[in-house]
Amino acid sequence: MSIPSNLNTIKASLPEHVTLVAVSKTKPVSDLMQAYEAGQRIFGENKIQEMTEKWEEMPKDIQWHMIGHVQTNKVKFMAPFVSLIHGVDSLKLLQEINKQALKNNRTIDCLLEMYIAEEETKFGLDENELNELLTSSAFKELKNIRILGLMGMATFTEDQNQIKKEFTHLKSIFDSLKNIDGYGKDALQCVSTISMGMSGDYQLAIECGSTMVRIGSSIFGGR
Ligand SMILES: *Cc1c(COP(=O)(O)O)cnc(C)c1O
Repeated sequence: MSIPSNLNTIKASLPEHVTLVAVSKTKPVSDLMQAYEAGQRIFGENKIQEMTEKWEEMPKDIQWHMIGHVQTNKVKFMAPFVSLIHGVDSLKLLQEINKQALKNNRTIDCLLEMYIAEEETKFGLDENELNELLTSSAFKELKNIRILGLMGMATFTEDQNQIKKEFTHLKSIFDSLKNIDGYGKDALQCVSTISMGMSGDYQLAIECGSTMVRIGSSIFGGR
């Protein structure tokens, strides 16, 4: 199958309220351009340097999403152009994003990454940490970031029930955001995104409430 037809098949299967992030990590610009020419404008990368190189080379109406784990000292390289950072899991990182956003005279949109899997290797916050972060006075001072919602990755397993349980958990955390004391109504106006679901599990993720899926290999082939 070709990249445009893969892309079109997936797009046709997504409900209207679900945003597709085409995960293009490790793939050459020529592959990304095929998706671009088929109409795709949102691309996800997991390495800042690779994303920056692609941004420099490719059309400027692309929205670049950082979906990988972010090292604080590299935020500055993507701050001028990144459209959404999915994997934010600490106040320290948010403070650096805020600082670099300010330097670039812009606001940077972020998702907070939640730890929902039963794997030691996955990054993310637990519910207590989320609560603490959102209600801290340090968080309230950050004027150049905007929290659009949450992101999570399920355990790498064939067990659909396990995956479903984890996605449902993320949805319930998302729904509980509005009850967090002190995390005001104003802040919540932008919160609308749950980034969950990849090539292998995006349909299940959508059933469980996902509004943004990150799909790589089903579009571009294996890596
Ligand atoms: C690579 C990656 C994806 C896409 O995975 P596929 O299985 O190729 O669709 C999604 N999310 C994150 C965080 C990734 O690193």
